[in-house]
Amino acid sequence: MVRLWEKLKRGKFYKSFRSLRIRVFCLIILTGIIPCIVLHFGILERYLNNAVAVRTSEVQTQVRIIADHLITYNYLLDSSSDIVNAELSQLSNLYDGRVLIIDSNMKIIKDTYAVSEGKTIISEDIIKCFKGGGASNHLQETRYIEIIVPIEEKIDDKARIVGVMLTSVSTDSILSSYEYIKNRALLLEILAMVVIFGIAFFMSRKMLKPFEKITDAINEVKNGFTDEEISVTDYKETEQIGDAFNQMLGRMKVLDDSRQEFVSNVSHELKTPLASMKVLADSLITQEDVPAELYREFMTDIAEEIDRENKIITDLLSLVKMTRTSADMNVETMDINSILELMLKRLGPIATKANVKLIFESRRPVNAEVDEVKLTLALSNLVENAIKYNIEGGWVKVVLDADHQYFFVDVSDSGIGIPQEAIVHIYERFYRVDKSHSKEIGGTGLGLAITRNAVLMHRGSITVQSEEGKGTTFKVKIPLTYISQ
Ligand code: ADP
Repeated sequence: MVRLWEKLKRGKFYKSFRSLRIRVFCLIILTGIIPCIVLHFGILERYLNNAVAVRTSEVQTQVRIIADHLITYNYLLDSSSDIVNAELSQLSNLYDGRVLIIDSNMKIIKDTYAVSEGKTIISEDIIKCFKGGGASNHLQETRYIEIIVPIEEKIDDKARIVGVMLTSVSTDSILSSYEYIKNRALLLEILAMVVIFGIAFFMSRKMLKPFEKITDAINEVKNGFTDEEISVTDYKETEQIGDAFNQMLGRMKVLDDSRQEFVSNVSHELKTPLASMKVLADSLITQEDVPAELYREFMTDIAEEIDRENKIITDLLSLVKMTRTSADMNVETMDINSILELMLKRLGPIATKANVKLIFESRRPVNAEVDEVKLTLALSNLVENAIKYNIEGGWVKVVLDADHQYFFVDVSDSGIGIPQEAIVHIYERFYRVDKSHSKEIGGTGLGLAITRNAVLMHRGSITVQSEEGKGTTFKVKIPLTYISQ
């Protein structure tokens, strides 16, 4: 069974049935065919059965009346009664039928066709009737209804079956009107089928047209002929598809713009140190008899520019790593206290050099599922910034805390602060509040972008509070258990 279904699924029929147009077509055809079938079998066949039943009961009533008369006129003993004979011939003429009257010896004493009188008749139905039951049969092949009615004599309120009336009436008139109606209905059904087929063909094409329109419009965008928004308002559904596509297109445009901006920023940032090096090298080359001190000074500047170029490239590579999917996460359960202690130990010399005091406050032991390298990079960028953008003799405080779901790392400093209007931009790549100051202290403008991405990869969040001239606090919140999706 399963195999058959698999086979069917692979088959041509199933493949074409996957088309919405074919389905709509079949649905319309079905909705048309079902009433036709109901009409044909439900009404037409019922008509025939009803007409036969009405005719049978009509004849049965008449036969019963005559059966009574047979007793009244003692017809079984003497079949010469004119009244009864007239009734019998009237009955057989009216319904185009034949009446046989059979006595208790199974002898036919009257046949309206006058061919079997005097003969003996034995049949199951007749014997049954003698035993006390009438019967009626409709024989469609012979186009006759056969009705067997007992002739009952009543003596002292007791009924005794003394004979049987076997009547066959023709159903020709019923069948011919049935056939006439049937032919008419068939004609109408064929006509209806042709119309339904036409409607199904037309409607399935028309109803699916908007979907074709939307596919064409998407293809136009895909093939690059246009980048205009698509709008197919025929159906609510096509409108929704169009809206969703337009939103996706908008997002792609934003991504494309930001990629282009990123590439031009990268080129610019990478070119700046190169340009400085070129100027320095050129001036050394063009000057004759350059004094050794000047030579050394220029070469030191060139070495600094090389360091800067190196830093930009390192940061760019980190950023690229941080923008990949979570498949690149190397998650392990780690002691966050140890990570922070190690990180602060590494940053100690920079803080000492800048004359900034590093304070670490751990409110509780914390173990969490993190990517150690990424988390360390994210947090050391924050601490490095807090040292870089600080004042002489200032401080940087790192606080670690946790609840049952998250751990929190706050990095506060007593530094220069960030202007309110700049806060929304600080996570942008290459954004620096004060370009010259940042450059002077070795900033690339990529640090916070890296931090933010690393925090987001841990499904965490980062917020900032800052006041110019007073200091800044970055708050990082990360789930204790890594959520992969
Ligand atoms: P950069 O490499 O220039 O430090 P970041 O992306 O790390 O780049 O930071 C972006 C900008 O945000 C910095 O140039 C600086 O102006 C500002 N900034 C970041 N951290 C601090 C801080 N703790 N105090 C003051 N300003 C900060």
